[in-house]
Amino acid sequence: MRLRHLMIAASTAALLAACAPKTPAPAPEAAAPEAEVETVEAEAPLHVDVIDCGTIKVSDLDIFSSAGDYAGVSDTLTDSCFLVKHPNGILLWDLGLPGMLVGNGENTQGVFTVSLDTSLTEKLADLGVVPSEINYVAISHSHFDHTGQIDQVQGSTWLVNQKEKDAMFPPDGSAPYDPSLAPTFAMFSPMEQQVIGDEYDVFGDGSVVIFQTPGHTPGHSSLQLMMPESGPVLLTGDLYHRKESRELKRVPRFNFDEAETLASMDAFEARAERLGAKVIIQHEPDDIEALNGEIR
Ligand SMILES: [Zn+2]
Repeated sequence: MRLRHLMIAASTAALLAACAPKTPAPAPEAAAPEAEVETVEAEAPLHVDVIDCGTIKVSDLDIFSSAGDYAGVSDTLTDSCFLVKHPNGILLWDLGLPGMLVGNGENTQGVFTVSLDTSLTEKLADLGVVPSEINYVAISHSHFDHTGQIDQVQGSTWLVNQKEKDAMFPPDGSAPYDPSLAPTFAMFSPMEQQVIGDEYDVFGDGSVVIFQTPGHTPGHSSLQLMMPESGPVLLTGDLYHRKESRELKRVPRFNFDEAETLASMDAFEARAERLGAKVIIQHEPDDIEALNGEIR
């Protein structure tokens, strides 16, 4: 969902200012050499920690279905980040709600009430990881609830496809598609960046693949994982927000392109069937709670 639908459109700059002292960029000497990660985890299989990156209560889901059948329905969405640990490095998939929400209870604007109990950095510490150990960051897309804590992983390399990057930073120098997000997007600018194609094999062995599922945003992507115990797993990003969205192929009213979204849903389902993959809808509490904090 988009920041302007939520609460802090006007205070994004304040948000970043508030976050800055708590989450300084990693000192150069704190940067973990990649070789160290490889040495420590050389024999470890792929493992994914599921991190609670906030809660989004929606008092009226109408904007989540262009078919009009969600009007008057309320629901609670979870907001998750995924720490993908590979023997050759660590990828963080999605960045949750803004860190400034920590300690500020529930914030309501319109139909949305958002909250975040603990910052990403603290959650990582609970897992024994410091942000400087994260080699790569990738977002399913650039909305507010997936970019909120970019300030905390500034030492990582940002993997991004050209379409999403152009939506965030229009090549003609104009404002992004949602100008209220510009201060958040600005936090991506100083990072190391790697532009990736429609399908990108992060570690070169097919175990972690970012693939485009455009429509929600121009370069929206999903993540394919080959897990040692679970087998193939697909993380949806916001291709779907709820179980019902997938079953009924409902497209949010605020998507960038409905036809493209429906085509992405078809391609995603074909991939899921081909692989026999388990599908995890990132905002669906039932899907996330069932994981109990990890994907093996
Ligand atoms: Zn979202």
